[in-house]
Amino acid sequence: MKIKRIAVIGGGTMGNGIAHVAALAGRSVHLIDLSQELAERALATITKNLERQVRKEAITEEDRDAALERIQGMTSMKEGLQGVDLVVEAAPEKAELKYEIFRELDREAPEGAILASNTSSISITEIAARTRRPEDVIGMHFMNPVPVMRLVEVIRGLATSDETTRAVMDLTRELGKTPVEVNDFPGFVSNRVLMPMINEAVFALMEGVAEPEAIDTVMKLGMNHPMGPLALADLIGLDTCLNILEVLHRELGDDRYRPCPLLRKYVAAGWHGRKSGRGFYSYDG
Ligand code: NAD
Repeated sequence: MKIKRIAVIGGGTMGNGIAHVAALAGRSVHLIDLSQELAERALATITKNLERQVRKEAITEEDRDAALERIQGMTSMKEGLQGVDLVVEAAPEKAELKYEIFRELDREAPEGAILASNTSSISITEIAARTRRPEDVIGMHFMNPVPVMRLVEVIRGLATSDETTRAVMDLTRELGKTPVEVNDFPGFVSNRVLMPMINEAVFALMEGVAEPEAIDTVMKLGMNHPMGPLALADLIGLDTCLNILEVLHRELGDDRYRPCPLLRKYVAAGWHGRKSGRGFYSYDG
């Protein structure tokens, strides 16, 4: 199956990146958000990011213009789903919202279209169960920032078909990314491994083992990580980290995933990391 036309639902941090790479790879993209203003903001971000690639000589001005021509900002789901081969949902990480979107996709998306979610932690099997076509539902977990990061974790729900998986693996390679197939378990592989490491770094901080800079330097220079776990948590968002740890704790039922009380305290204080200007580090100015 050749995927030519893609609808992206949600033009936020991830959705605009997904639209960006899909358009650069020659796909027509319908970028759907809640209002015209939000859709336009997403297009402005994509334009800015493509400009940066032109300045770095990663793409030409012609590539940029052609990519922008292929992306259409939209607000109507019904209209945006017409004629698409693939939908990538990148709406906020709220289970009920995603279930509602997938019920609508089931009603409105063309027969045979692949329905993918970019969720970081919600079960693909549970999302698929909201549709009458669970064999067409799959996880496509892009990493942030999408134009830069090479991995796409491809998550098979219990009922996902081989054909759907193959089509998504092929498309991912055509987008210039490396797909890795994993099964649907809480946190998949990425967050199952990453979040306990971040959580342990927060416990080390809380217990006074070392200062944030020292913890991060040990992991950077000693383990060759490009960023320390606390700086990475600030980048991801501490609220998002807490949210994912709560999913792991609840769904796997094991106390080794219990979120560190210091992480809860920071989130309660509104210290959400870079986006709020304060997390384990300060980002004032
Ligand atoms: P975001 O808040 O930046 O963007 C979400 C967008 O969806 C917003 O523009 C919002 O207006 C729009 N939206 C909300 N409801 C909608 C609806 N019903 N229909 C259409 N659009 C709607 O969120 P994000 O960080 O881009 O995250 C999106 C998804 O990607 C989440 O599932 C998240 O877990 C996952 N994810 C995020 C990251 C990350 O680092 N931010 C990394 C990997 C995966």
